[in-house]
Amino acid sequence: MNLADNLRQTQQRIHQQAIDAKRIASEIRLLAVSKKHPASSIDALYQSGQRDFGENYLQEALDKINALKHHSIVWHFIGPIQSNKTRAIAEHFQWVHTVDRLKIAQRLSDQRPQESEAINLCIQVNIDHEASKSGVDKNQVLTLARAIVTLPKIKLRGLMAIPRPSDVKDDSSFRQMHELYAEIASMSEFPHWDTLSMGMSADLEQAIANGANIVRIGTDIFGPRS
Ligand SMILES: *Cc1c(COP(=O)(O)O)cnc(C)c1O
Repeated sequence: MNLADNLRQTQQRIHQQAIDAKRIASEIRLLAVSKKHPASSIDALYQSGQRDFGENYLQEALDKINALKHHSIVWHFIGPIQSNKTRAIAEHFQWVHTVDRLKIAQRLSDQRPQESEAINLCIQVNIDHEASKSGVDKNQVLTLARAIVTLPKIKLRGLMAIPRPSDVKDDSSFRQMHELYAEIASMSEFPHWDTLSMGMSADLEQAIANGANIVRIGTDIFGPRS
């Protein structure tokens, strides 16, 4: 498994899909999802120039963040968040993609160290109403966004979703996410709103065709997780 080759192939795939979607490839940020993979693999990709890494499980993430503390990595938290985990997330991550209730955002703001910049936050939307998934209902996004945007140590960047797997012809969940994202972007109340986080190894193309500008790729870069 050559991680540098996998990274290049994924970048190439993003580039090709950007062309097909008449978009600018450099405006799409690749988040390498390193959950269940060791710090040594992250280091190998770092040597190839990758800087953004995503983690789902807090303790595992903290171990890797500590092991790699001399690297200038941008760490993104992309897993479900319980209240008792917010302090460590606020202290160690620059981004959090999976906020679906005000209480969690308030705690992240309160617990963000004074000397740190505001934490970058995306609201997770449960776009397909799946009981197994976190995320706020589409109809509640604007209310939640209006409450979160007032918090002092939060920079509200946009939306995140994990759309249900669908065939290429039916990308309606991705399309709905793009519409919701654009609707809020057109309002003047959200000065830092610039992020639509969606697209994983299996649906990168659909996501980019529908406006995603952070794609979160694990398997295609690191290989299968044990
Ligand atoms: C694991 C994970 C990914 C990466 O998924 P792959 O299919 O391995 O590319 C992306 N986003 C979230 C939220 C994840 O949990």
